[in-house]
Parts: sequence; structure tokens; C-alpha cells
Amino acid sequence: MKVWIDGHLCTGVALCEKSCPEVFVMADDGIAHVVGPDSRPAPSGVAVEFPEELLEDVLEAAEGCPEECIFIEP
Ligand code: SF4
Repeated sequence: MKVWIDGHLCTGVALCEKSCPEVFVMADDGIAHVVGPDSRPAPSGVAVEFPEELLEDVLEAAEGCPEECIFIEP
């Protein structure tokens, strides 16, 4: 499955990073990014594949995001 963040909506509260630091990271621009395949913050809106075993944590992050700007795709 893949996950992406709409950076235009993100307010940088960092709850996602607390729920799943393997997938979400706060970057220098003050908002959260999905960690890309190169282990660097992926650009806003770019969907990145994540390991199946992290699905529960990614779902927790998406449900806990106050801006509802984390999107999960098959
Ligand atoms: S929880 Fe949502 S609003 Fe907060 S940093 Fe993560 S993506 Fe942005």
C-alpha cells in the first residue's frame, strides 16, 4: 500500500511522526513528509509504498491527523 500527504493542508503538528516515525518525518519546511525510498522526505503529494507490517501505525497516523491530510492508497 501507499501513503501520501497533502502538504498544503498539513499544519506541522507532528502527530503522524509520533505514530509512525518509520513512515512520517518532519522536514525543514515545517511540515510532515512521507519518507521516500531514498530515506529522504518525499515531495508533498507523492505516494510512497510502505511495508504491510506498518499498516496499523499508518492508519493510526491518518486517523489522528487533525487536518485529515494523510491519504492511503491500495
Ligand atoms: S499529523 Fe497531519 S497535520 Fe500533523 S504533521 Fe502529520 S500530516 Fe501534518
